[in-house]
Amino acid sequence: MLNFTRFAHACLMHRNVISPFHVRRALVRNLSTATFDPTSADKNSAPFSNKKLEAHELLGISSEHWHRPGVWDEKDLRSLRSANQAWANRMRSEGFFSENESRRGHAPKILWIGCSDARVPANEMIGEPPGNVFVHRNIANQVVNTDFNCMSVIQYAVDVLQVKHIIVCGHYDCGGVKAALVNTDHTSPLENWLRNIRDIHQHHFAELSAITDLRTRQRRLVEISTMEQCLNIFKTASVQRRRVATHLQSQEPGSRVTFSEPVVHAFVYDPETGELKKLEVDFKEYMRTYSNVFNLYSVQGAATAETRSAQPIAQAGVRASTKSEEPSLSDIIRDSLENEGSLSKQK
Ligand SMILES: [Zn+2]
Repeated sequence: MLNFTRFAHACLMHRNVISPFHVRRALVRNLSTATFDPTSADKNSAPFSNKKLEAHELLGISSEHWHRPGVWDEKDLRSLRSANQAWANRMRSEGFFSENESRRGHAPKILWIGCSDARVPANEMIGEPPGNVFVHRNIANQVVNTDFNCMSVIQYAVDVLQVKHIIVCGHYDCGGVKAALVNTDHTSPLENWLRNIRDIHQHHFAELSAITDLRTRQRRLVEISTMEQCLNIFKTASVQRRRVATHLQSQEPGSRVTFSEPVVHAFVYDPETGELKKLEVDFKEYMRTYSNVFNLYSVQGAATAETRSAQPIAQAGVRASTKSEEPSLSDIIRDSLENEGSLSKQK
């Protein structure tokens, strides 16, 4: 069964690109990805047609029913239930929904923050079966500090589920990003949401306005926005608290924690090719520059492991910028990035 370790390894081995064939196969098989293995697939096998899969294909519903005008009738709903029954039967045959599976409970190690766009399914494109990915999706995969929904998801994922990785996945041809690049009032609340993207456009105006081709500018804004959302994750208290705590744990002899958790990853998905591309984000430089603004937690040098813990800076009365002998968040992020290979050690 594919797990995140093998996915990460495959990314590293194949220039961070998942073959479109894998995505196509995973989509066509409709969640039947338990045996999906990108490391063993033949890159020369069936080429990916650029045809976008329709919703009815994913659900296994005939085109005739899906595209029929008017509201769905009983026949359409029976078709949905029948497709679900077929999927459930197949998953059961592959070991899901068993008593053991149920006892395992909810213990995903990946938090996925992606766009609501129907072409960008979370589990499927990275070959993870149900149960392995905690998912939050919204228009244009934004991480907004005042969005209690997203903030609650992050807090629960980090504090309770203790996910090891957070993936922010943007995608080219994103309707939200494209809408934010036109001077149109999309009316509230959508226009309020798009303002987050317009603000990113403003912050990177020089770079973006120098791109004359609109499609290229849209694609670049998708990338920049995705990276900005990763930075927004680093600014959250729960992520900083957990990273400092796990950094301390990783220093203890024999600790099972080997790196600061969670690690944040930026990806962009291309719906025209099915490929997932890793973006290189210079968290180190950013956090060094703005540590005095965003750092909320610092490491307190207690004498024993038992008493060591991540302490709020304000509570400890210590500014991170003046506590030079102890690692700051930017130091920890740098260490984590330098140990990027630790991805493959996890799970
Ligand atoms: Zn989108």
